[in-house]
Amino acid sequence: MFVLLFVAVAAGWFLGRGGRVLTMSSLWQSSDTLPSQYYRGLNFLLDGSQDGAIDAFTKALEVNSETFDTHIALGNVLRRRGEVERAIRIHQNLLARPSLPTSQLHLAHLELARDYISAGLLDRAERLLLDLVAESGHHQRIARRHLLEIYEAQSDWSAAKRVAGEILPRRSLLRSNGPDPNEVGQPIPLLLAHYCCEQAAIALHSGDLTEARTQLDQALKYDRSCTRATLMSGELELKAGNPARAVKTLQLLKEQAPDFVSESADLLRQALIQLNHRSALRSYLMDCYVAKASTPLLIALAEEIRAVEGSEQAKDFLRKHLVDKPSLGGLALLMALHGTNEAGEDEPLQIEIVNRLVEANSTYQCNHCGFRGQHLHWYCPGCKHWGTVRDLGAIGDVTRE
Ligand SMILES: [Zn+2]
Repeated sequence: MFVLLFVAVAAGWFLGRGGRVLTMSSLWQSSDTLPSQYYRGLNFLLDGSQDGAIDAFTKALEVNSETFDTHIALGNVLRRRGEVERAIRIHQNLLARPSLPTSQLHLAHLELARDYISAGLLDRAERLLLDLVAESGHHQRIARRHLLEIYEAQSDWSAAKRVAGEILPRRSLLRSNGPDPNEVGQPIPLLLAHYCCEQAAIALHSGDLTEARTQLDQALKYDRSCTRATLMSGELELKAGNPARAVKTLQLLKEQAPDFVSESADLLRQALIQLNHRSALRSYLMDCYVAKASTPLLIALAEEIRAVEGSEQAKDFLRKHLVDKPSLGGLALLMALHGTNEAGEDEPLQIEIVNRLVEANSTYQCNHCGFRGQHLHWYCPGCKHWGTVRDLGAIGDVTRE
């Protein structure tokens, strides 16, 4: 990479001297005019000191519209290497040259904002990006995407919704399910639905059910397939004292997102107990399991059977189904259901080992970056994508669940 960088800087320097065609003879003839910083850079490079080489080349390379791309490339390489302060210096140096064309100044502006985001200086990045949105038609869209990144990091959902709304094409308000083929990143309606869910979660937490309902309805308008909004709507109806509506809402998941049915089991249980109709839970979960067998559903069913009919029935159920659908999670539950009274003295150790294996094999995984964890995250901590984390057991990955 640094050899390439060296060539790029050398080429940039020659171009910067007047845009002459780079030939061996011109290289030779020009060598007596090379600045001392250039030789110092070469020395640093030969001595293996990449940091010194970069500093020397940066000083040697005059800033003008021809060498601009080389400076930008150098700054970006430094940022990717985690040397954000030096990237900032390079990009600030470009911005200090008002003689550069406006389009290049705007690009330097954008790169500096990216440096600030990498450095965690979000307020500074936000100011730069807001200026870019106001001044640069060309970089407006990408600047708004970076603003979303900042508002997500700050949990400023109102600001995120405002900016996402500016990106959303007008007609998409009516037809929210078709992603824009020109758009980079996740579809804006999907993001907006999650921002509404975040606001609904805050409202639910503070007991403002009216606001929560408004936000969840809005989320489903943006993205009809938003599983999170459906789950939260079920929770809301339960809190609002409408168990029948909670059941109706949560059972939409059977068609909408079969992989998430097990996530609704606890809420469904609470609602059906209130309706004195608990037996419906087992038959509903069984219907879903027959439609698509998965470990989380198997465990939800076994736990329901244990609670209603007792451990023996739950063990029988697990023994029967684990043969068809073997899984560590199911085995751990089966072993836990065996009381120590009837077990050999090694049994507690076996339960401990299996439980540790289950813990070590994290249950949830992001289908975008591969992040793994024990909990369902709607916002992946690894790649900052929304709604990409799945239960490995639910998607049938028997080898890893
Ligand atoms: Zn991820």
